[in-house]
Amino acid sequence: MEQVFILLGTIAGVYAVLVATYLASCLVVTRLNRGIEAAKIQARATTPVLVRRDRRQSLLSLAGIAAMFGAGQWTYGTLGWGFAAPTGIIGTVASALASLVLFDAWFYWFHRLIHTRPLYPRVHQWHHMTVTPVVWSNNSDRLVDNLFLQSYWLVAHLLFPVAPAVLLAHKLYDQVTGIIGHSGWEHGGRWCWPPSPLVAVTHHDQHHRYFRCNYATHFTWWDRLMGTLHPEHDAEVKSNIRRTETVRCDATLRPTER
Ligand SMILES: [Zn+2]
Ligand SMILES: [Zn+2]
Repeated sequence: MEQVFILLGTIAGVYAVLVATYLASCLVVTRLNRGIEAAKIQARATTPVLVRRDRRQSLLSLAGIAAMFGAGQWTYGTLGWGFAAPTGIIGTVASALASLVLFDAWFYWFHRLIHTRPLYPRVHQWHHMTVTPVVWSNNSDRLVDNLFLQSYWLVAHLLFPVAPAVLLAHKLYDQVTGIIGHSGWEHGGRWCWPPSPLVAVTHHDQHHRYFRCNYATHFTWWDRLMGTLHPEHDAEVKSNIRRTETVRCDATLRPTER
């Protein structure tokens, strides 16, 4: 019985952290979008009904992710399943990098799978109802969609040696970058300047617009390797980064010019 309480407590704790990160990131990124309206990637606006739908569904979907992440921690911590975590600094850093690379591959291939004809309508279509994503759209997925894309967090300890804290830090990085990636403005900056492997906001924004391209989540290399990167990806990333820089620069100069 005590084991069940530990499991439920872990899931509740993870859910609280994920929801707090979701709300805080959405509010901060919305604030960052203010003042640079002219640099918005898509001219089309998302209806308030759709935004409310995405916000509601995200809070539900985060519970599904918390259940998987929490269950993974419980089987590792309580039942002792999985590889022993590295203890030194080098091992910890290596495990964090391995997790980023492994999850990106997991996400890329399962994302391609749920875009196939038999799976798409029942699994992934919900997320694509929003063509012009907003911060709140990040976790607006059906629960079955999470079983494909987010089950990594349930089994990660069985795949390679990684500490729970490293896995949680990675999940929070994924949560924050996912929200920025759905924000509708190019916040990537010079870190994402092609051929940098880091995905820019434009990468996932194009996925929502063109649908059959840009499937990865952290890095562009799988899309480049498999030929699924949008043909205009690099050019549009550069132009959107420049546009954000120009509009931001104009916005900071304006008050002193008066
Ligand atoms: Zn998709
Ligand atoms: Zn999306």
